Amino acid sequence: MDCLFCKIVEKRVPCDVVYEDAYAVAFRDIRPVAPTHVLVIPRVHLAAIHHLRDADISTVGHVMLAARNVAHQLGLDSNGYRLVINDGDAAGQSVDHVHVHVLGGRTLMWPPG
Ligand code: AMP
Repeated sequence: MDCLFCKIVEKRVPCDVVYEDAYAVAFRDIRPVAPTHVLVIPRVHLAAIHHLRDADISTVGHVMLAARNVAHQLGLDSNGYRLVINDGDAAGQSVDHVHVHVLGGRTLMWPPG
């Protein structure tokens, strides 16, 4: 399988890792849209939210807790931050490996575009 984010998990593609645990890896987005923009991904390959099975609940839960840990570690949780998951083409998902965007460091508008 030719998956960019699997290669990041396997450390075959360089990136700026800010957090790792047994279930998730977090690294800075290469094209940040906020002063802090980190992607949190599961170590296992899950292509998209709409492909998840009930059995993936633990993995996805751990990814969300990892996102919380990243936000805390980077000092975002005092002012607030946003978690975004783009699912599918219309939402702009460009990498077919589930990822949570952690965005912070500025005021974030609502609704998103
Ligand atoms: P999405 O558009 O929601 O699928 O998000 C994919 C994100 O991956 C985009 O924000 C890209 O900037 C980011 N991205 C793509 N390649 C890399 C890379 N090699 N290292 C870090 N971030 C990347």
